[in-house]
Amino acid sequence: MSAPRIVMLPGDGIGPEIIGAAKRLLEAIGEFEFEERLMGGCSIDAHGTALTDEVLEACRAADAVLLGAVGGPKWDSTDPGAPRPEQGLLGLRKGMGLYANLRPVRPSPALVSASPLREERIAGTDLLVVRELTGGIYFGDSGRDGDSAHDTCEYSAAEIERIARVGFEAAQRRAEGSGRKPRVTSVDKANVLETSRLWREVVGRVAPDYPDVELNHLLVDNAAMQLVSRPADFDVIVTENLFGDILSDESAMLTGSLGMLPSASLGADGEPGLFEPVHGSAPDIAGQGIANPLATFLSAAMMLRHGLGRADDAARIDSAVDAVLDRGLRTPDLAGEGETAVGTDEVTEAVLAELNA
Ligand code: NAD
Repeated sequence: MSAPRIVMLPGDGIGPEIIGAAKRLLEAIGEFEFEERLMGGCSIDAHGTALTDEVLEACRAADAVLLGAVGGPKWDSTDPGAPRPEQGLLGLRKGMGLYANLRPVRPSPALVSASPLREERIAGTDLLVVRELTGGIYFGDSGRDGDSAHDTCEYSAAEIERIARVGFEAAQRRAEGSGRKPRVTSVDKANVLETSRLWREVVGRVAPDYPDVELNHLLVDNAAMQLVSRPADFDVIVTENLFGDILSDESAMLTGSLGMLPSASLGADGEPGLFEPVHGSAPDIAGQGIANPLATFLSAAMMLRHGLGRADDAARIDSAVDAVLDRGLRTPDLAGEGETAVGTDEVTEAVLAELNA
């Protein structure tokens, strides 16, 4: 079997530093064929556009895409006609048909004290938010009529079914070998919205195909409360675009450490996914060698798990990251008062050493 082909899009700011570190990590895990391409501000500088057709084609033809981050003050402009780095991200989502966004929230045991929640509340939290990414109110008809405005929310049963299946399958995969029952919480606003009533109906219709998974429904306002009052009780949360946008940021805050959060965006079966840290390009620390590479390492783990079917390798990375944090190694963004901080290279070396241990 030939080595999986991975397109690397380092992007801007700290992007090249964290992607460089992730490349070393992957080389230690196995054989991959890497292809590095420009996307974001660096592509605007070189080609006048954030994403060229050629790069999009390369991404679509790859087995998976690993992205750093894009953007920075250099490309901030008030000219609405000027190209913007984020256009590259939107172009990739659309061009690769990425309809499912997965964000795991699993505070490393060594970092629970960084959470804004009390330790006893956050301890044991290990959840995954599955957000529908290409439908709903962000993509419906919108407009102004005099001094009124409208945004339309639309969902088809087919759109709901495919994201529900992603949620159920992710729950099964997460529970594999653990002996525990996989759980899916479907979040909607079925007491008010017609799209939510369709959502609930379709999710309920798909559920019998996954008899081992326990399904329950929660209204979004209640879900927002439960996420902070009992986060450890959630397993997989599956929800529509707007609710997912808000709930995934809320759950991200549970960890209190932006530099630790990975994400995956998936398209149709057999098509490549896009894997990236949740944080941005951190222009304030770019080029200083102190960027935290761990969110990118965990994104690489998601790529192995969800994109390349290599769950064992993914688990090795997750454990190596935990072990390094346990030993107290921290980049400055994680280091507490009195703790000595180390740079990107030292953390990377430590993770590599754990992998080989
Ligand atoms: P940011 O996430 O880049 O930075 C916020 C703060 O967190 C900064 O102080 C930064 O130094 C720190 N930080 C972030 N990631 C870090 C890491 N890995 N290690 C250590 N510290 C880290 O958000 P921002 O400052 O709002 O945005 C900066 C640029 O990034 C903007 O141009 C924005 O548009 C872009 N952005 C891109 C993405 C993406 O590419 N997906 C996401 C968010 C923001």
